Amino acid sequence: MNLSPLWHPFTQHALAGPPVFIERAEGAALFTKDGKRIIDAISSWWVNIYGHNHPAIVASVKAQASRLDQVIFAGFTHEPAEKLAEELLQIMPAPLKRVFLSDSGSTAVEVALKMAVGAQMHRNKKQKRIVALEHGYHGDTFGAMAMGAPSVFNQLYKDYLFAVDRLPFPEKDKEDVTLSAFKKILAQGNVAALILEPLVLGAGGMRMYPPEVLRALKTLCEQHGVYFIADEVMTAFGRTGTLLACEQANVTPDILCLSKGLTGGFLPLGATLCTEEIYQAFYSTDRAKTFWHSSSYTGNPLSCAAACASLELWKQPETQTRLKNLCAAQEKARLELLPQVENARRCGTILAFEIKSDDPGYLSQIGPELYEFFLKQGVLLRPLGNTLYVMPPYCISETDLNAVTTFIHHALDALRRGRLERAA
Ligand SMILES: *Cc1c(COP(=O)(O)O)cnc(C)c1O
Repeated sequence: MNLSPLWHPFTQHALAGPPVFIERAEGAALFTKDGKRIIDAISSWWVNIYGHNHPAIVASVKAQASRLDQVIFAGFTHEPAEKLAEELLQIMPAPLKRVFLSDSGSTAVEVALKMAVGAQMHRNKKQKRIVALEHGYHGDTFGAMAMGAPSVFNQLYKDYLFAVDRLPFPEKDKEDVTLSAFKKILAQGNVAALILEPLVLGAGGMRMYPPEVLRALKTLCEQHGVYFIADEVMTAFGRTGTLLACEQANVTPDILCLSKGLTGGFLPLGATLCTEEIYQAFYSTDRAKTFWHSSSYTGNPLSCAAACASLELWKQPETQTRLKNLCAAQEKARLELLPQVENARRCGTILAFEIKSDDPGYLSQIGPELYEFFLKQGVLLRPLGNTLYVMPPYCISETDLNAVTTFIHHALDALRRGRLERAA
């Protein structure tokens, strides 16, 4: 029985043990109430890119908290939001000229969808179809769920989700299948936008595909007046080794969704960036053409202050060195040499592989067993079914990263001997 009234996310309380009680955190480490140290090898659900409680972000938020907590963002503005927009646009691809703030990855995606559909409606009222990628994940609000792949996450609600055309995932050496499927859909006409996670599909199993496919999809969008929405909520700010994953394909999206690493994982914030053309589609003396979207906390000053400090960190040479070192260390892990490992892959700081199993998929029992095994060793890894991935903060030490790899070896050894539970 769960004694706390809290209902936790992605948690089956009838099966889960009591949650781990965290008291404080620092760098790549979480500390429990009873003093145990846990290496946060998944950056607390992919958000804490510079590590926990980074002093620069703490200082920025503290200073902001004593000046201005929150103010309505319709008709009002403030320094942290202005500064954030300016600095974001300075580092992002030049055609992105406007910044809409919200408060999560899901809302950044909802805003992107409303921008794309709205701009197309203002243009010609015909281009309405949305195209997305098989295995994609864009968040858990209804619009984001509709665009995400049908899965155990959303099957209960499928009758409430709008129709989306789906491209097959670009499997290795079958990338043409994806491109032909898109061409076929485009030939039927009326496509408003393509939304995808560039280079790495996160929640869909850390599936990776090459930049060339991204480039080819973007070219098709350009040829057909289709907006290209890059959901870089997980991939941005160095995750894939570069500021944006799109950069590696030399692609500039028409709409870009940011969240997770935007504040260094310190406070919730979403940002949707778009081109001037999209902004201009709503720009009118006709009030009915206003972009009707807001949330109460749009542009929250504390979140913006955290994001400003994060962008400063991004620009520091030390961050870039750490990022490079982490990418190199992940390359060296060589987990593909282990017998139960399948499809070992890496993109930037992300390492992923499947564990050979008679019971694959998200509900694979291996997932929770491995999770428990690692936690007992003091490592937070949260497999997606039989897919195991490592996505640490850039500040993780060599010692901690080696410890993570060692425990992965131990876990696979124990699995091979069929003794995971006892070994734990
Ligand atoms: C996590 C994620 C989201 C949703 O972000 P939330 O902040 O959890 O709402 C959207 N898109 C991608 C690619 C993500 O990884």
